[in-house]
Amino acid sequence: MTTAEDSQKLVQYRCEVCNAPYPLGADDVISTCPYCGYTFIVDGGEMKTHLLLNNKLKKEGVVKAVSDWIQFAASKSVGKGVTKDIELGNPVLQWIPIFRVKASSQTYHFGAEQKGSGKNKHWVKVEGRDSAKITEWVLARRYAAAFGIKEFMESLEDEESKTFDINLTDKAPVLNAEIADTDAPVRAKYQKSERDRAELNEKVEKLFDYRLDMDIEDCTYFHAPYWLIRYEYRGGTFRVAVSGATGRVVLGELPVTKTYRVKKWFSSVFMLVAAALLIQGTPYITYAILMADSSDGEVFLIPVAMFILGIILWAGSIQVIGGVLKYEIQLTADGEEREEGFSFGDSLKGFGGRFS
Ligand SMILES: [Zn+2]
Repeated sequence: MTTAEDSQKLVQYRCEVCNAPYPLGADDVISTCPYCGYTFIVDGGEMKTHLLLNNKLKKEGVVKAVSDWIQFAASKSVGKGVTKDIELGNPVLQWIPIFRVKASSQTYHFGAEQKGSGKNKHWVKVEGRDSAKITEWVLARRYAAAFGIKEFMESLEDEESKTFDINLTDKAPVLNAEIADTDAPVRAKYQKSERDRAELNEKVEKLFDYRLDMDIEDCTYFHAPYWLIRYEYRGGTFRVAVSGATGRVVLGELPVTKTYRVKKWFSSVFMLVAAALLIQGTPYITYAILMADSSDGEVFLIPVAMFILGIILWAGSIQVIGGVLKYEIQLTADGEEREEGFSFGDSLKGFGGRFS
């Protein structure tokens, strides 16, 4: 089948259908001939069902979507000034191999919530069951190496697909699958349970048990259009990823500007001052409460709350000052800065939950 001269990363292969030679990667499990589109399982036969998600964009459309997004996202973050000096590069299309896994799922979770306050504080059992028809998209590559691929996968919708045809790929590279179709349901289940657990941990105070059963109904091989643009700004290179399936930006980078740094610096200083005032004020408030000789025990929550809020603000100021040192920021389709690690908003939410 293969005419391998060595056991390097690539082997020369000859298409069974059109006889054209092309290289096959050592990790490839499902391969598509770049000339005729014949798709087969490397250790098996033809891949009978192979679809693609329609590519809605041509190069000009990608340039337009990216320019619009940069205008919009910059005005929300680093300031519109950057847009003048940006020179967009050539948009590059790639076809990403994915599986669409359809299943009916049953989930069960069991945890506990704290109810009441003061002496009435007690734990209440929370339990839930859910069954649903679900669609999971699974990346058929070992490593999600491409920029914004996670956001790209999350943006996929189950519509406007066609039978795969090499003439519909605009001569762009069609990546081979490194994951077998038999592995896709396992990955789909893992993906869904990870997501569910993360959501439940936000909602339920203590999660003791989570179970997921999935009855797989269908697993279909797809290729999806992923566009990438690189652009230059004052000697640096930045990337924006666009989904050809939706026509929208999925993730992009913007250069950090002076305006952004100054904004971050001021909010950091403001948070630091507020933190210092809250922490330093705690003993005085405690003293005032002791002097007032209140019989209500809950009143002591005030200095505790002040102290904790002070610590959160202090941590937040360090997080924000980190933004001053950054060279670039990553923003989503909606122009929201992608959070990494500590999130000021989440801390406040958790904090509010503890005292309400
Ligand atoms: Zn061929």
